Amino acid sequence: MDWASRGESMGASWIVKDEKGKVLEHSRHAFVEVGSLTEAKLQLWLWVLESMRSLKKKKVRFVSSFGDLIEAIEKPSCWPALQFEVGEIKRELQAFEAWELRIGSSNTIRCASFIAQSVRNLGLTQSYVAAGHPRWLDHIYANDRSASGDPERVCDCPTIGWHYKIISKQAACRVEGISELYSGSGWSLPPARTTRQLNLQIFLTTQSLTQASDSPQWSVEGALQNSFNSALVWNVLREHKPPWPLAKLIWFNAAIPRHAMTAWLFGLNRNPTLVRIHAWNPETDKTCLLCGLEEESRDHLFFQCQYSSQVWTQIMGKLGLPSPPTEWEHTTEWIHRLPPPITLKTAVIQAWQGTIYLIWQERNRRFHDGLTFPPARFMKSLISLLRIKALALSATGRALGDKLLFLCSGE
Ligand SMILES: [Zn+2]
Repeated sequence: MDWASRGESMGASWIVKDEKGKVLEHSRHAFVEVGSLTEAKLQLWLWVLESMRSLKKKKVRFVSSFGDLIEAIEKPSCWPALQFEVGEIKRELQAFEAWELRIGSSNTIRCASFIAQSVRNLGLTQSYVAAGHPRWLDHIYANDRSASGDPERVCDCPTIGWHYKIISKQAACRVEGISELYSGSGWSLPPARTTRQLNLQIFLTTQSLTQASDSPQWSVEGALQNSFNSALVWNVLREHKPPWPLAKLIWFNAAIPRHAMTAWLFGLNRNPTLVRIHAWNPETDKTCLLCGLEEESRDHLFFQCQYSSQVWTQIMGKLGLPSPPTEWEHTTEWIHRLPPPITLKTAVIQAWQGTIYLIWQERNRRFHDGLTFPPARFMKSLISLLRIKALALSATGRALGDKLLFLCSGE
């Protein structure tokens, strides 16, 4: 039953199944001017009972979602307010040789609900009785038998205002274009199979189309776009988070990508330092491979370790900054606050990322190959890398390249 308190017509439906669950008949009926929900329930029951009598059904098990009425019929003393309704229904029930009442879940009676809803949602007020189940519910009955998923889904994405329809290969029909569904006289839509489809169809019937050629329109958050813009759509769909404080120290035009990537992973503390590996496997020795004195954590490697602090201090010394901080947090804060010129700050960030990269490379060499490089060779590699980057910038006409080249030429 589909009833509303606003005095509209009410939709009702019943489905008759045999003892094996096969649908024998179904019916739809539209009621008008039903004043209250209780009255609606009574009218429905009386209509169902009359229909069963007309169809010569002698032994019937009634399954309804009206738990209150069914309880009232079985225990009238508990529901004195429904005395009149119970009396009317019981009188009609006497016409059957045997009857039984059951309370059904919304899922049990969903097909009957769909049929009932078509009265108010689609304005289908014609009443009828027909054999079998409605053709447009084939799919649900097929699914009930096979317990497989629903092959047709209609999805909508309110964020960017579009609707799409997915029809699987198993579906019986496929809609190729809007022209198949709309003619000059209006919409010709296939029967809806779900409440959501019904609502979509109701919306479509409020739209009329012209004979002009179709043209796509993209709307993002209500704003009409001239064309599809993937960046705009991505920005709407993606999860927004506050900017990562270290981002400016990692991603910038003069960065060396492999250095930036390593620094980024250490910024997130995601690289497998021995302290982290030890947390997964307690048998792992977590002693630093560079100094052999303390535990190897990110903060120790950059740059509390004797080995790495020596390298870091020497490299900063070449840039005219002889006493850089050696704690991770202090170092990043210190770089953030470096005063102009911007060229020096850029060189410091490059050197910071390069030092992280090469120290991690040295640590991995010791961990995997057992080889050890002295700090001097290691520093020579870094200066060489920075110089190549500066030359590359310079070759592309970037003034920053010449300035950086000057800074790293004081080997
Ligand atoms: Zn160490």
